[in-house]
Parts: sequence; C-alpha cells; structure tokens
Amino acid sequence: MENKYHLETLAIHAGYEKDKQTRSVNEPIYQTTGYHYDSTEQAANLFELEEEGNIYSRLTNPTVRILEKRIAALEGGQEAVAFSSGMAAIAGVALALCREGDNIVSSSSLYGGTSTLFTHTLKKWGIETRFADSTDPDTFAEHIDNRTKMVYFETIGNPKNDVPEIEQIVKIAHKSEVAVVCDNTVTSAMLIRPIDFGVDVVVQSCTKIIDGRGSSVGGIAVESGNFNWARGRYPDMVEPDPSYHGLKLCEKFGRVALSARLRIQMLRDIGGCMAPFNAYMFLHGLSTLHLRVTRHCQNALELARFLEANKYVSYVNYPGLESDPHFMNAQKYLPKGQGAILGFGIKGGTEAGKKFINSVRLASHVTNLLDSRTMVVHPASTTHQQLSDQEKIDAGVLPDFIRVSVGTEHIDDILADFEQAIKASQR
Ligand SMILES: *Cc1c(COP(=O)(O)O)cnc(C)c1O
Repeated sequence: MENKYHLETLAIHAGYEKDKQTRSVNEPIYQTTGYHYDSTEQAANLFELEEEGNIYSRLTNPTVRILEKRIAALEGGQEAVAFSSGMAAIAGVALALCREGDNIVSSSSLYGGTSTLFTHTLKKWGIETRFADSTDPDTFAEHIDNRTKMVYFETIGNPKNDVPEIEQIVKIAHKSEVAVVCDNTVTSAMLIRPIDFGVDVVVQSCTKIIDGRGSSVGGIAVESGNFNWARGRYPDMVEPDPSYHGLKLCEKFGRVALSARLRIQMLRDIGGCMAPFNAYMFLHGLSTLHLRVTRHCQNALELARFLEANKYVSYVNYPGLESDPHFMNAQKYLPKGQGAILGFGIKGGTEAGKKFINSVRLASHVTNLLDSRTMVVHPASTTHQQLSDQEKIDAGVLPDFIRVSVGTEHIDDILADFEQAIKASQR
C-alpha cells in the first residue's frame, strides 16, 4: 500500500495486503515460533540474509511485521522493529548505538523507566547520560562531545508536560552528526510525526494510547531512513561484524542500518520480541487511534480550563492552556492537540492530594497512562515516594501535584467527578 494516504487511512490499512492463502479480511494472528523452509539452500540464504523471509519469531513474525509496517507508515519512517515493551525498544536503541565509554545527551524530563535506565542501569555498563534542559537547546550543545551517540527527548516530557524546541535540538545534534531519538508515546503520529522535524529514530510504547484499553505491553522503534550511519561516529555500523561472517551493516542496509542492527543483533542476542497476539491487539487499537486521540485532547483541554478556573486549584500544567509556559512550542509542534496528560496542584498539599484521589468515583486510581479511562495518581505518595524532598521538587513532583490521564468518557461526567472530589479534598 502506498504511503501517500492520510494518517487516518494508513492507521487502518497500511502494511496488510490480505492473506493470499486464506483471504482473511482481518489481520491473522500467526501464533507460531518457526517456519518451513523450501530447501536447505533457501534456509541457508535466509540465515545469510541473502533472502528475506521468516526464520524464527524472535526475529520476525508475520503479524508483528504488519504492525511494524503500519507504524513505520504512520510515522513517516522507512523501517520499524517491534519489541516486547516500550522500555525494551528504548534500551534496544540505546544499546545498538552506544558502546562502553560512549554517552547519551538527554532531556532531564523523562518517563520514570527511561530515567532510571539512563541514570543507573546504562551507567553500570559504562554508558554515561548527560542531562540537558529540554526548554534550552543550547544545554544539549554544551554536553555533546566525540563520544556522544544519541540525543534523546520526549515530545511531551513526563511529568512536567514540557514541549521541547525540537527543530533546534535536532539542528544542534546534526551539526555533530549525532543521531536524534525521540519518544513519541504520549502524542503518537496522530499529533506529531517527529521525523517530519528531522528526528532520526522514533521510539514508542504501544502499551499506552495505541492499545487504548490497557490490555497489552509492547514497544517499537521507527527509523527515518534519513540518517547517514556511514560517517565516522558509529564504527559498529561500518566495521565488519564477526557474528555475521564480517557483514557490514551500512554496506548492506544503508540508511536503515540501525533497524537491521536492532533486529539481527538486539532481538537475536537479547530477545525482547513482541508477541503476535499483542501485535494484533495494537493493530486493533491503531484502527481507532485518530478518533480516540481527538477526543482525548478535547477532553483534556476542557478539564484543564475547568481546573484553571477552580478556586481550590493552585496551578495547572497543560501545554494547551494559553497561560502555560510551553503553549507556544505546543502550538508549533502539536497544533492538532496537546495530549491527554495534565497535572494540577490542589490547595492543602499532600493531605488534600490524598483525599482527592480517595474521593474520585469515575476516575481510576492507577499509575497507567493513556487508555480510554480517566486515571489519576498522586505521585508524591506513590510513583515518586522514594525520592528525597529536593529530588521530588527537581522532578516537578510537588506535594500537592496530581497527574491526570484524561480518558474518552463524556466530558460532563469527568468534570462532575473532579468537582465533587475537589470539594471532598477540602473538608
Ligand atoms: C510507558 C512509557 C514508556 C515505557 O513503555 P512500556 O511499554 O511500559 O515499557 C516509555 N516512555 C513513555 C513516555 C511512557 O509513557
């Protein structure tokens, strides 16, 4: 299928040409680990990567492949590799780009798992992360040196709801020929295609808004096909790979050498492949993504405005509000909607925050994000409880801070629930 169609059409059709054998309309679930070979010659060709085809579902699976093609089309990329979770995708990309002694320059405003991966886990393997301020692109430039292999940020940071100046950061990274990796989980291709702004690799957790029902865990990395890996900075992409009889990734795969590395090295050696059934669930989610995203964003903006006008609310973080410091960047990069996540402070600090959470009736008290249900969490007493007071402040987690993932229910029901819970919090 050609990728000239609109996003809404690609989300329903891209990557699946109807099963020739069964003529199944719906994408089949290929619940299989292995595949028949025609002959020993064909098997040898597959293993030598001389011929494209399925060998083993840790590397490729036809159902997962439909999802990879569909998301690559949506994001405007050339190639995509699916993983067992968003974190597996992010860790896979980091490990494919960095060796011991290399470094990552990342926005400090990150999803919790990514933050601990960069700060603690990769550090133990000799990969250092230097943190920059997503709102000040020059701070990225200050940290880049000749061992920097990846510049990293999220389209909307967590939990601060900051919107980075993407084009400036990309420009700075590309000046040093460093690849730019962007997490598009909270926005999805429906709100922004980071590749259109020069980003080289988009990583995403499919667990969130792509699934939409909180049913399955999965992740994906999409490669733009624009980055030239053959320049000096990435020796693993140009030097012969002894684990593939001297294969040179750049020579064989050109501008999608990273995807090849993710599949034939990361998935081969570390695993973390997506399950076919989960890929099927994500295909289902994708078919309604455009409809849901619109509703999520409308509801979030209305709730943000309602909270801003409420006398028991001390502040609201939502980049769709004119009063928000990230409003201008959000209008530039996210004109179709500013996402479903907002934060607010409630008068009365930690105690009022806890009371609010205990008083909501419609909203669910969970740490998940971005499914169709409205969800609330009080980070100071849950997700960020272990941090010191200063660390909490640095992470934007004030004692009265409540994070909301706004669902697709009727807005009046959401507003009524918040109104009664805020009242209850002040008693
Ligand atoms: C949830 C999330 C992840 C991790 O995804 P999993 O599928 O839970 O591993 C990464 N980045 C962001 C922004 C997320 O919200």
